[in-house]
Amino acid sequence: MMNQTAREKVIFLLIDGLRLDVAQVALGYLGHLVEVGQASFHPVQAELPSVSRPVYEVLMTGTPSSVNGITSNQVVRPSHQTSLFHLVRQRGGTTAAAAHYSFSELYNQAPFQPLHHREQHDPDQAIQHSRFYWDDNYPDSHLFADAAALQRHYNPDFLLIHPGGVDAVGHRFGGESKQYRNQAIVIDDLLAQYLPLWMEDYQIVITADHGMNGDGQHGGTSTAERAVPLFCISPRLRPGVYGEVVPQLAIAPLVCQLLNLQPTTKMGRFTIPGLAA
Ligand SMILES: [Zn+2]
Repeated sequence: MMNQTAREKVIFLLIDGLRLDVAQVALGYLGHLVEVGQASFHPVQAELPSVSRPVYEVLMTGTPSSVNGITSNQVVRPSHQTSLFHLVRQRGGTTAAAAHYSFSELYNQAPFQPLHHREQHDPDQAIQHSRFYWDDNYPDSHLFADAAALQRHYNPDFLLIHPGGVDAVGHRFGGESKQYRNQAIVIDDLLAQYLPLWMEDYQIVITADHGMNGDGQHGGTSTAERAVPLFCISPRLRPGVYGEVVPQLAIAPLVCQLLNLQPTTKMGRFTIPGLAA
């Protein structure tokens, strides 16, 4: 059973570029957790443009690109919004991330300089403890180990884990390729190694920013690019498979509810099937 403090802590796994249909067939360990009634599954429609940095901002702030101004990967500046990291910190909680350097630029400082910003520990930053990568081929296995070290040493209330391997392989081989599906299986195996260590102390949210089309690209409006999964492990979400599509803007306020935080005034109000009021 989950202990009491787990009700206020979340690990947010953002699997970059993992589209819905591949998540449904490749993630056998997560499928197991759903089958045995330990996890919920919802389909999600990604915001537009279905591009990484704009959607990172959507997921962390619950605001659309038209409001937050992060309309492209080329918009390199700190976010003007209040993110989940800020909200956790405002309550006196601890934040951490093992993630692509875009998150450092959005929530700590821009531009990212590998020499200075690879590893950051500063209680005044939005992301207080972090390890960022900048090479798209940074191994997912190392990224999970980075995250596990942050979790062990700093016991964060909100930990973002952001592996980029699925997206990188999708760009090289396309979203219909065996290589792309196989990288999703690699992620599932990493989840199978690490989630049992974390599930007792944390609620777990697993989703993706966007999908991947057959051309090895995303940014457009096709289902391959927009349909992504949402798995949750939380006493507040009734386990099971839900069919109703959840808007991606609903995820930040959902995380607020899991953390017992008041959502910002800019976040929308949504009803998530299975979520206890
Ligand atoms: Zn990409």
